[in-house]
Amino acid sequence: MRLFAAVLPPAAVAAELGGVVDALHALPGAGALRWTSRPGWHFTLAFMGEVDDALLPDLRARLARAARRTPPFALRLHGGGHFGRRALWTGAAGDLDVLRLLAERADAAARRAGIPMEEHRRYRAHLTLARARGEGVPLDPFLDALAPFEGARWRVGELALVRSNLPVGGVRGEQPRYETLEAWPLEGRGEGAEGPTG
Ligand code: ATP
Ligand code: MG
Repeated sequence: MRLFAAVLPPAAVAAELGGVVDALHALPGAGALRWTSRPGWHFTLAFMGEVDDALLPDLRARLARAARRTPPFALRLHGGGHFGRRALWTGAAGDLDVLRLLAERADAAARRAGIPMEEHRRYRAHLTLARARGEGVPLDPFLDALAPFEGARWRVGELALVRSNLPVGGVRGEQPRYETLEAWPLEGRGEGAEGPTG
C-alpha cells in the first residue's frame, strides 16, 4: 500500500484554513487549479510510496518509537509558498526544529524498516492546497493572498501513518483518498536534542 507519515491539523485549524481557501477560490485562475480535498489536508513528514505489507509491523513499531521520543510542540499555519509553478501550499511557523526532527525520525524509521526512501532532501514544511495542471497558471495572486495568513497556534501531539488511495483510472471512487492507519502520541520530554536517530 502507498503510505506516508504526516502531521494532521486539528478540525478547528482546518476550518480556519478553509475560510482562507474559500477566498482563494474567488481569485482569477482558481478554476485552473486542482484543489486538494479538505478532509485530507496534512503536512507530509516522510513519503514512503508503495510499501510491502510484510514491512508494516516493523515500520509501525519504529514510528511508535519515533513518536515516543519526540516532544509535543507548537505549530501554526503561516503564509504561502510554491514548488515551481505546480504546487501551491501554506507553510508553518512555531517549533519547526521539532517538526523537522520528527520528519527526520519518520524518515529514519522507514529506512530502517527496509523501505527504499528517496534521497534525503532538506525538509520543508508545507501543506499542499492546490496543484496546477500545467505550467500556465500564475500563482502570484494566490501567494499574495496567503502571505499575511497567520493561523491559530495548536499543539501537535501525534504522528500519523496515512494510507493514500490513488484514484483508479482517474476517477475518484468510494474509498477515502487518505486513511489514517494509526497515530502515535508524541511523548518525548524537552527539546528532543538527541538527533534524528536518538
Ligand atoms: P496526487 O498524487 O493524486 O496528486 P497526492 O500527491 O496528494 O495526490 P500521493 O502522491 O499519494 O497523493 O502523496 C501523498 C503525500 O505525499 C502528498 O502530500 C504528496 O505531496 C507527498 N509526496 C508524494 N510523492 C512524494 C515524493 N516523491 N517526495 C515527497 N513527498 C511526496
Ligand atoms: Mg502525488
